[in-house]
Amino acid sequence: MTLSVTDTLGRPLRDLRISVTDRCNFRCTYCMPKEVFGRDFQFLPSSALLTFEEIARLVPIFIAHGVEKIRLTGGEPLVRRHLEDLIAMLAPLPGLHDLTLTTNGSLLARKAEALRAAGLQRVTVSLDSLDDVVFKAMNDVDFPVARVLEGIAAAHAAGLGPIKINMVVKRGVNDGSILDMARHFRGTGYILRFIEYMDVGATNGWRMDDVVPAAEIVARINAAFPLESLEANYRGEVAERWRYRDGGGEIGVIASVTQPFCGACTRARLSSEGLLYTCLFGTRGHDLRALLRGGASDAEIAAFLGQVWGARRDRYSEIRTADSSRAPKVEMSHIGG
Ligand code: SAM
Repeated sequence: MTLSVTDTLGRPLRDLRISVTDRCNFRCTYCMPKEVFGRDFQFLPSSALLTFEEIARLVPIFIAHGVEKIRLTGGEPLVRRHLEDLIAMLAPLPGLHDLTLTTNGSLLARKAEALRAAGLQRVTVSLDSLDDVVFKAMNDVDFPVARVLEGIAAAHAAGLGPIKINMVVKRGVNDGSILDMARHFRGTGYILRFIEYMDVGATNGWRMDDVVPAAEIVARINAAFPLESLEANYRGEVAERWRYRDGGGEIGVIASVTQPFCGACTRARLSSEGLLYTCLFGTRGHDLRALLRGGASDAEIAAFLGQVWGARRDRYSEIRTADSSRAPKVEMSHIGG
């Protein structure tokens, strides 16, 4: 059954990011600042989260509408218990070509093998610095770099590759770590990707001055390790690809602020309580959980999804202004990037 849809700007639906929890064991200052996500913060009760069975019922409907790639995210996806059970349910689905996960790496050393055995293909690990002082100041829970590196090594040993490493760059906070990270991951086969700090959510106090433009990141690395640009792997790929001229491998930059790529955005996002967002900077989600729990048939859910995607007109990053960056948008920790 194929029900492929395009939105009002002619963009198909190809990728789905599924947040499996709104909780995280880190308190990255740019994502879940402690002042907001402190001890008293009310996370969702487990009864509010989509069950694995509910997710596994929705996914074939998304696949029928064109989704080929799924990324599990959070919060921190590995804090959701028995995540490998969900992976085992999704991995065999016909039409799903890529099943991956984004993690802060803290629990990866323990879980990599079970994830691989369940059918996960690869992982992306977030790591913002190799300097413990900088990294701990950013994760704000005193988590050491070495344990993330252990997680990455365990993922590699389990065959969860190609492994990507994501570094969010915030000026004056970790831009001093750009070259160290490039040097460390050169020649390892891991693909390091630098992400411009974005105005997602409404709690991180984003300012344009905090953004280090991707062009500046590339120029800084190029001065130390000469680079040449590479073709995109496919239309709509978010990272701009570069390779070291000396054969040291590949890096990517994700310039969602300075060079928005809304025109090729084929991503839908499902929050852990079943709200469907058609943009990372969305203000309103569409309630799939209500349909699931209200007794809707698969055909009714499919019709709803087709309608939502067909009506999609989001292109936030292309029309961002200082005012819109202060609007009440969904938190990154809610839909997972
Ligand atoms: N906990 C998982 C992790 O750390 O990868 C998955 C969820 S986390 C929200 C996904 C990614 O979003 C991480 O790489 C994180 O650094 C990134 N992120 C969070 N807030 C961001 C922001 N304001 N701008 C750019 N990236 C951000």
